[in-house]
Amino acid sequence: MPQVSIYKTESYDPAQMEAAVRFHFESLDLSHLIRPDQKIVIKPNLVMKRSPDDAATTHPALVEAVIRQLQELGAQDITIAESGGGPYAEPLLRSLYGTCGMAEAARRTGAALNFDTGSCQIEGDGQVTRRFTVINPVANADLIINVCKLKTHCMTVLSGAVKNLFGCIPGLMKPELHMRYPEKEDFCQMLLDLSAALPQVISFVDAVDAMEGDGPTGGSKKHVGLTLCSSDRYALDLVNAAVLGVDPSDIITVRQSMERGLCPASLEDIELLGDRDALTQAGPFRYPRSKQTDFSSQFPAPLRPAVKKVTRWLQPRPAIRTKSCVGCGKCAESCPAHTIQIRERKAVINYQNCIRCFCCHEMCPKQAIDIHRLGIFDL
Ligand code: SF4
Ligand code: SF4
Repeated sequence: MPQVSIYKTESYDPAQMEAAVRFHFESLDLSHLIRPDQKIVIKPNLVMKRSPDDAATTHPALVEAVIRQLQELGAQDITIAESGGGPYAEPLLRSLYGTCGMAEAARRTGAALNFDTGSCQIEGDGQVTRRFTVINPVANADLIINVCKLKTHCMTVLSGAVKNLFGCIPGLMKPELHMRYPEKEDFCQMLLDLSAALPQVISFVDAVDAMEGDGPTGGSKKHVGLTLCSSDRYALDLVNAAVLGVDPSDIITVRQSMERGLCPASLEDIELLGDRDALTQAGPFRYPRSKQTDFSSQFPAPLRPAVKKVTRWLQPRPAIRTKSCVGCGKCAESCPAHTIQIRERKAVINYQNCIRCFCCHEMCPKQAIDIHRLGIFDL
């Protein structure tokens, strides 16, 4: 039976963080997985340059506590590595680590920050993708400590343990994968293939301050007061769904991991250690406004492609708030369909090619991209 540990963690106070991380390591008996000769990569969620107070990125206090615990257990080679949205280049990494508080966490603990922008291929036994290009520190790691941030997500509903591993793909190769798998079902299968191709992973969840609504960057902060941990990322995401208060079948990666036999069918089949009664204390999270509805399965098979086409056109879509747009071009840079142009210092979307991935919404530093939806989809 997979195990997930849950610990009430009301704030990012260092003493609370240390107590939480110690509890997770002890209750899950993780110490035997740590050896002095291992290359360990800490993979936080640094989706974009944002202050830790915005709840869009993993809080550095949790990363610092995890590093200290690993060091206490004898780990010597620890590197914090992330490939956020946008280009994967040293000056951008430097500024990302600085703003997100990782540079300070590294300085205080002596852990390294990754500035190697090389990448190499790894192979797995995937269902839709067998070969992935990942950033060098991940490819060379013996152990990945996946420190994700609990958020709702415009495309995948949940940004949790499995989704956080998408940041192992170098910068602008991420839009390429969005374009190769424009349908959510295929994209989520690819995420599961990537997760399975990686070396051993232990996952932590920063759900002290989480994000609800239009995550992963445009939602609102929601205090939950929990940290969670597991060496089973699929079971952990099922528990994350319970914290969000959403139907697990609404989270495609969770449903697909059940179908693949990677994840138990219900919480009853997971051993919950620690503060299990606190799981749903924060109440249901607001869904992202991008939540889509597919009516096509209710129609006879021959009509489904046409119904799909029509409903796709009516689905929520990104809309530029021209007053807030500063024409920086970050949306265009991250758009896998290359369907955004900057004209007269304002972004303009050609909806003909838009695949509704909401990468533009995710990467806009001015939150100048709204999500428009028709009332019928709110039913
Ligand atoms: S919409 Fe946002 S990301 Fe795009 S150009 Fe305007 S400010 Fe930049
Ligand atoms: S316009 Fe936005 S939602 Fe549409 S394909 Fe480009 S990034 Fe994705």
